[in-house]
Amino acid sequence: MSKYYNSKRKNNIFEPESKEPFKLSRSRLELFLECPRCFYLDRRLGIERPGGFPFSLNNAVDLLLKKEFDAHRVKGLRHPLMEKYNIEAVPFEHEDLKKWQNTKVGIQFLYKPANFIVFGGIDDIWINSNKELHIVDYKATSKTSEVTIDEDWQISYKRQMEIYQWLFKMNNFKVSDIGYFVYCNGRTDREAFDKKIEFDIKVIPYKGNSSWIEKALKDAYLCLKNNVLPEPSDDCDFCSYREEAAKME
Ligand code: SF4
Repeated sequence: MSKYYNSKRKNNIFEPESKEPFKLSRSRLELFLECPRCFYLDRRLGIERPGGFPFSLNNAVDLLLKKEFDAHRVKGLRHPLMEKYNIEAVPFEHEDLKKWQNTKVGIQFLYKPANFIVFGGIDDIWINSNKELHIVDYKATSKTSEVTIDEDWQISYKRQMEIYQWLFKMNNFKVSDIGYFVYCNGRTDREAFDKKIEFDIKVIPYKGNSSWIEKALKDAYLCLKNNVLPEPSDDCDFCSYREEAAKME
């Protein structure tokens, strides 16, 4: 049996006749938007797309940033980055924060038209003086140029932010359309490694627009309900590679 077929994942495989709400993470919705075929193979047929290597260094940055913002959260104070970028907000304190940060639980909402429990794990939330929440996402990279969110491939970052904003709005929180990316850029212009990497940190505001989400959820539902495997995405070479390879094999 292939390691990519996961027969034990029955709970996470969509059953067209089931009346039970189906749990759909924001990353799986992103997969649907990238390629409905891969999404269908994964959620309907139980064949996972091969994963990449774990981003352990990024995870370490996330964890340390969380600790740093938590230290300010308990005191109800602005973090120096908020001061530097003139953001009139403090880290948001809430009894469910740890749950929302857990990627397996996250913030959840039952979207009835598709019978999906949509969920996603956030990095952080800040609250401004108007009691509006700002969704915050940490990113880490290492590049010689300035970090931005303007590259085409970063549409997934923007959609990620918009889904979190939508999830909090659906849970009756007052949410600002402005979210923030705390973008850490590992510096490579040092003389030596010396057991540490230094980072430049930039806070990038982004104005989200969640208007696309409900249609995407309904489309994802129709995709899973259908008994036909969707066509491959035009932008991805892997299916044509597989087809050509299969002919030769
Ligand atoms: S086109 Fe790419 S993304 Fe889509 S099913 Fe094939 S391998 Fe997956």
